[in-house]
Amino acid sequence: LDSKLPHVGTTIFTTMSKMAADYNAINLSQGYPGFDCYPYLQDLVSKYMNTGHNQYAPMSGVPALKQRIADKTLSVYDVEFDAESEVTVVSGATEAIFAAVTAVVRQGDEVILLEPAYDCYEPAVRLNGGVPVYVSLNLPDFSVNWEKVKAAITPKTRLIMVNTPHNPCGYVWTQEDLNSLAELIADKDIFIVSDEVYEHIVFEGKKHLPLFSHPALKERTFSCGSFGKTFHITGWKIGFCLAPERLSEEFRKIHQFVTFSTVTPMQYALADFMEDPSRYLYLPQLYQRKRDLFCEGLKDTGFEFRPAEGSFFQCVSYGHLSDEPDFDLAVRMTKEIGVASIPTSVFYHDKKDHKILRFCFAKEDEELERALEMLQKGI
Ligand code: PMP
Ligand code: GLN
Repeated sequence: LDSKLPHVGTTIFTTMSKMAADYNAINLSQGYPGFDCYPYLQDLVSKYMNTGHNQYAPMSGVPALKQRIADKTLSVYDVEFDAESEVTVVSGATEAIFAAVTAVVRQGDEVILLEPAYDCYEPAVRLNGGVPVYVSLNLPDFSVNWEKVKAAITPKTRLIMVNTPHNPCGYVWTQEDLNSLAELIADKDIFIVSDEVYEHIVFEGKKHLPLFSHPALKERTFSCGSFGKTFHITGWKIGFCLAPERLSEEFRKIHQFVTFSTVTPMQYALADFMEDPSRYLYLPQLYQRKRDLFCEGLKDTGFEFRPAEGSFFQCVSYGHLSDEPDFDLAVRMTKEIGVASIPTSVFYHDKKDHKILRFCFAKEDEELERALEMLQKGI
């Protein structure tokens, strides 16, 4: 078969998680919580399954859940979206991103990707005939180089992909970042797909700024979220897209024929569960404690790092310790040291190796402590 994605193999997350299992290593590679969701949320799913909520949900989502998402967006960010026409529930942020890219990217359109970039962006662009244009984030702080973004914009630029809080770097966009982007695209016909799946995981009292919080950006943004990270349910694959009506209409045309609708009883359960905002507003506390625990231990490993501002990932540099390629080191550490991580070169189109590994700290404290003990023996 003449592959449409000739350079794509199995994702690094699958590869490293399998390797961690095969070698009985602590798996800090693939990003998922090492603890379960609330039993009450499970009870709600059972309740809805046992009361006949097992057939197709409405195409754009269960109305009660769409309303909850709109209400939460208003109360947390003070931004209004119409639950009926501007909120769509989908099967994970991965679907939201694919559908949003598909809705706007045409053959030959250029799409700006900020690297390192989460792995599902580029294939979505290419499958739609788009041409990825890569702009590297600044090192070592992973901030956005706005001069470089400006230089990358051409008359063919159709879309810019944004991710804040950032996976793998943990960078969180500032108001200046939002203003810079708004200024750059003010007189251009450019859309934004903003991946904000870690919206509730931000540290040091910093606030996540959704792109739609800037009125000029709101008009052009498909904002993609996920319940996976927020309620410790990555296996449920439920996400959502917030976008102005004219964008949501196009988005839904794609969603309608990719999955049509999303798993029914879970949507009802989430609508009930979101009634109490403390169920997601405690996440900065939960994860900052874990980040701090992990970073404290990292100080005795020889790795260099800047504590993540958001997300549940911590990047570390080891270039001063070794020349080993990051992929080789991640493999060797899994097999010999017993801790699996993600080599960040996979998030660069040319596999540029900055000698940075990513660890997921969304794990039980005891597991993090065991991992740190092993890492403290050195690479
Ligand atoms: N974007 C980013 C940055 C992610 O880390 C992930 C994975 N959790 C996703 C999108 C995909 O989210 P989902 O599992 O809801 O498809
Ligand atoms: N988002 C997760 C990560 O960054 C992985 C999800 C997946 O395996 N596709 O580790």
